[in-house]
Amino acid sequence: MLKVEHIGIAVKDLTQANDLFAKLFGKPHYKVEEVVSEGVNTSFFQVGETKIELLEATQSESAIAKFIEKRGEGIHHIAYEVADIVAEMARLKSEGFTILNETPKRGADNKLVCFLHPKSTQGVLVELCQEIRD
Ligand code: ZN
Repeated sequence: MLKVEHIGIAVKDLTQANDLFAKLFGKPHYKVEEVVSEGVNTSFFQVGETKIELLEATQSESAIAKFIEKRGEGIHHIAYEVADIVAEMARLKSEGFTILNETPKRGADNKLVCFLHPKSTQGVLVELCQEIRD
């Protein structure tokens, strides 16, 4: 893994959270993106080398809605950048981690992503991401 690419934070109200995090960081978010397949609205802040991704559910069935229902707002996942997501998924699988999607899927911010089950990673949802270069 190359670096922590971003940290995902589940929020109830993206507009309110954007204001709050803009005050915290002293600068506004640089992007808002809806990921329809995941039922989320996201926004991104650049903080040095790392990004903060805020996630708001757009439907009650989305994983973010369920997460907030169960655990409240807060840190939802840590995303690590990898050079070759397919190779890294195979490596982690052989190490015994539980991969939540068998093939990489398209996530926000022009990335191929996959998630590891938090039960296999000490309770922290792990995202692997690889930039799509086209
Ligand atoms: Zn993410």
